[in-house]
Amino acid sequence: MLRVHILSSLVFCFPLVIAQCLAPLSSADEFLAKTYDYLVIGGGTAGLTVATRLAEDTSFNVGVIEAGYLHIPDSNISVPFFENNAVFHPEYDWMLSTVPQISTGNRSIETPRGKLLGGSSAINGMAWTRASIPEYATWDSLNDYSGGWDWNSLLPYFLKSQMREANPEPGLSGFSTSYDQNGFYGPIATSLNAEYSGIIPPYIDALEQLGVSINHNPLDGNTSGIWNALVAVDRNSGSRSDSATGYYCPSAKRPNLHVLSGATVTRVLFDNSTSNLTATGVAFVSGGSQYVVNATREIVLSTGVLKTPQLLELSGVGNATLLKNLGINPLIDLPGVGENLQEHVFITSQYELSDTFRGITFDDFGNATFASIQEAIYNKTRQGWLAATNCAFLFLPLDGFLNETEASSLLDTFDQSVQLLESTGSASPLVKAQLGIQRSWLTNGTVPQMEIIQLAGGLVETVPGNHYMSLLSGVMHPVSRGSVHINTTNALAPPVIVSNFLTADFDVQLLLDLFTFNNKIVATEPLSSYITAQILPPPNLTDADLVAYIRETFVIGDHIMGTATMASRSLGGVVDPHLKVYGTSNLRVVDVSVFPSQIASHLQATVYAIAEKAADLVKAAVQ
Ligand SMILES: Cc1cc2nc3c(=O)[nH]c(=O)nc-3n(C[C@H](O)[C@H](O)[C@H](O)COP(=O)(O)OP(=O)(O)OC[C@H]3O[C@@H](n4cnc5c(N)ncnc54)[C@H](O)[C@@H]3O)c2cc1C
Repeated sequence: MLRVHILSSLVFCFPLVIAQCLAPLSSADEFLAKTYDYLVIGGGTAGLTVATRLAEDTSFNVGVIEAGYLHIPDSNISVPFFENNAVFHPEYDWMLSTVPQISTGNRSIETPRGKLLGGSSAINGMAWTRASIPEYATWDSLNDYSGGWDWNSLLPYFLKSQMREANPEPGLSGFSTSYDQNGFYGPIATSLNAEYSGIIPPYIDALEQLGVSINHNPLDGNTSGIWNALVAVDRNSGSRSDSATGYYCPSAKRPNLHVLSGATVTRVLFDNSTSNLTATGVAFVSGGSQYVVNATREIVLSTGVLKTPQLLELSGVGNATLLKNLGINPLIDLPGVGENLQEHVFITSQYELSDTFRGITFDDFGNATFASIQEAIYNKTRQGWLAATNCAFLFLPLDGFLNETEASSLLDTFDQSVQLLESTGSASPLVKAQLGIQRSWLTNGTVPQMEIIQLAGGLVETVPGNHYMSLLSGVMHPVSRGSVHINTTNALAPPVIVSNFLTADFDVQLLLDLFTFNNKIVATEPLSSYITAQILPPPNLTDADLVAYIRETFVIGDHIMGTATMASRSLGGVVDPHLKVYGTSNLRVVDVSVFPSQIASHLQATVYAIAEKAADLVKAAVQ
């Protein structure tokens, strides 16, 4: 996403519950003094979820190894308005980026990933959304047998992870999200905003003029429409709720849960004397020294979408040719490791609002008086605009924003893009299967193809005192597929990310169509009366200019997934429906890498659900 970093010198008083979170172990020797049934590698979104659920059984000893540190209290993480401060900041982020490509305007695209306890859930945009029923149905269909990854099977785990708070009063009349299908007892606090910019109502009214309806139940498996998104924010403390505050802190005192921070795992170790390899332990680096620690039952890799494939390859699991070329002995030939990388790609439209607009936007933080009033409100009540986020999300299938001719032309472009991909031989059986399903969604209208996030504020070239509205508009089911692989045996070197973003014409054409739709929205009353100027993209560009502009300026949704896919091995999958790495008896991957196909949604709620289910799968294996 386009990000504005706000460096804050504000001093916040933190609620007692968070201040009491026990610091993890920072000494490798203390960690090695224990024995472990389970080792969870990566204390991020999924890792802390699995680890704390396993530790609920006091007969298990659970160890977690995390490369980053605990950042509690830290206003860069906890204060919702500062959501971008930790992103691409070396104290909190792995600072990884893609290889420059012609399709990305020769730009290297930043791919932020949290490097701290809480992982990416501690630096993300906090949006709490789920995808649609047909998208999860695909997950089972790409596997040899139904592993229970469809909507009905995942729903109990969505509910288990979520704690839905009461709607703040007065809210925005007519724009509340219902309580249906919400969870009320889970660790992650989710809530609606208490503050709403005055630019939201005319935006909704304009969309309604264009035939778009408000969706009051976006968590029920039908995500189409304009809706008020929940965010992972605890309204009592006005703070981000993430896997560190939600899962780890309440469990930190458990005597059978041991978390080592500041330690980087470099390899999984195997006993290869049996046909299915047994993971016995991991090697890790801490404070410049190397160590080995063992687990008697299972090892769970939760190092995230860019690091999990790296760790698998360093451990001898991956494409045998690639591994041999680097001098690594291939223990399991799994060509799917590091492939199938998919991401949501967004363009930005920004508009200046007229003087007749009398409401608040986030631009008002540029006004010192407004900022200090908000600081005082936040310090006293944990409310106000520092606890607020953008929340008007729009998801639509093709027929929601394109006419028949435009939709049919886009379908032709899809077919041409797929043909081209297949003719280069770079489409694996998995990708072919996914693209077949994606095509059916384009025509049957059941699955959103685009998302528009309304931002109440400007991102670039803002003039103090002015107000802006921006529309971040993205492709939900791109054709382009990328990869992430190692090019060295140095485990501390970054992996090579070849994103291939916008290599497929379909993805570019859909973004062009979204610029056109954005123009339609802002030309519709009552919104149009508030728009005085289009700032982004520069007005009056030809389509050819716009394509170049898209390549030079697009941003990503930070929703990379799928690089250790749960899919049938014959298709190129890496893990089976029990999340076990093919060819191993006790190594599981539990993180966003296992997504079998991209979803039209923000990803964290689904990652928590996967991790909750994974904990049950691991426990069930003992019985
Ligand atoms: C900037 C940003 C904004 C986002 N916004 C949203 C949003 O608003 N809503 C939403 O739903 N989703 C959002 N997402 C996506 C979502 O947050 C992620 O998909 C999800 O959190 C990924 O969880 P994970 O468990 O797979 O990985 P992570 O949470 O990234 O966890 C991986 C952990 O492993 C650790 N690790 C990695 N390698 C090693 C190693 N070798 N040794 C030890 N530890 C290691 C990392 O430090 C990290 O803590 C966003 C993501 C980002 C980055």
